[in-house]
Amino acid sequence: MLVKGVVFYLDSELPSEVKLLLEDFRLAVNNSIRAGLQARVTSRNALIKIAYKDFREQHPRMYSQHLVSAFEVAGGVLKNHRRRVRKSVTGRIPFVKRLMMKTENQAYRLDRKSGAIDLPVRAGCHVELKLIVSQYHRRYLDDMALSLGSLTVLPDRVIVAFRKDAPKPFVPESALSLDTNERSLDGVFVEGDGAKAVKAEFPEVAIIQQRHHDRRKMLQKKKAHDRRTSRNLCRREGAREHHRIDYRLHHVANSVLNFAEDRRSAIILEDLKGFKSKRSKELNRRLSMWPRRKLHQIIEYKAQWKGIPVFKVDPRNSSRTCPICGRIQDSRMGTEFKCECGWHMDRHINASINLLQTAISKGMAGGLRFNPGAFQHDVMMILYEPAMAARSEPNGTSGVVVVS
Ligand SMILES: [Zn+2]
Repeated sequence: MLVKGVVFYLDSELPSEVKLLLEDFRLAVNNSIRAGLQARVTSRNALIKIAYKDFREQHPRMYSQHLVSAFEVAGGVLKNHRRRVRKSVTGRIPFVKRLMMKTENQAYRLDRKSGAIDLPVRAGCHVELKLIVSQYHRRYLDDMALSLGSLTVLPDRVIVAFRKDAPKPFVPESALSLDTNERSLDGVFVEGDGAKAVKAEFPEVAIIQQRHHDRRKMLQKKKAHDRRTSRNLCRREGAREHHRIDYRLHHVANSVLNFAEDRRSAIILEDLKGFKSKRSKELNRRLSMWPRRKLHQIIEYKAQWKGIPVFKVDPRNSSRTCPICGRIQDSRMGTEFKCECGWHMDRHINASINLLQTAISKGMAGGLRFNPGAFQHDVMMILYEPAMAARSEPNGTSGVVVVS
């Protein structure tokens, strides 16, 4: 079962009954976290057993389904806490700070035509929340193949979970093999007997990372006398950085997936799991793996939702191997891979050809084959470039300002 959380903003301010409900819910979650810690239990059912009766007395007016959800949320927090304690990361007692409540689909009703939520607060008291519905939201509301999951209410917005069974991936008619780099996805698109180079560039991601890294360093220096403030500011910087990068990675993933969907391509990616580099600390940070792993996660998740087959292959030696004669070069080369047998190709594209061949040799891409002789050296298909984003990142180094 696949789940997608869709954010809706509210038409008006949250009614005061719901605000009170959020506070009660948070209190119930934090109390059950405490009860769970004392009794050393984390499962929802165990929490219900030890704490339900007391809670019913403390929150006599709360709708009982919400109370059960509070145990569920507390159970999740406790499980995370237990994981951290096992890894001895932190020993702090967890609590929920943010005002929120979560409820399961039996406990609310959403009118998918009008976008109104009927939320019971307590016996005999229901509240209607009007959602702002855009075209994006319509896609989810009108698709009756999607069923409704949980509802999360926050002070200014709600998150509705839409669920569906994972569609069966289609049988690929072509293949898109992509090598993931710091600033781009570089690859090869194979269809019939032809093969072309493809590229999706996202240089802004590295620029944003660099900028936020510098800013964090500056904050740490400036606030060296106040560790609490420094930590808070850095955390905020980190959250902003993640949002900005996430936003761009989603655009990149969408263009790749639209391309693959239109041409019924299988997507081949390198398996980044267990990727450990021996580079220096500075280089490691600059080439942080995080955005690349994140990009893969987004691509894989969205592909599942659309039924596009994705294969991951071991990237070992993919950038050093000649796809024609199989010779492995031992030194790092420049931007072009050159082999004694006469084959030469952009280094990244060469890597993607090797990924494709690994996938083909394992029978992943159906009956597809790759014929290096048919590779069109002079054609480059651009799947994505920064100008396609809603906003471009001024980088200070180039004199070109893109106004959008
Ligand atoms: Zn060769």
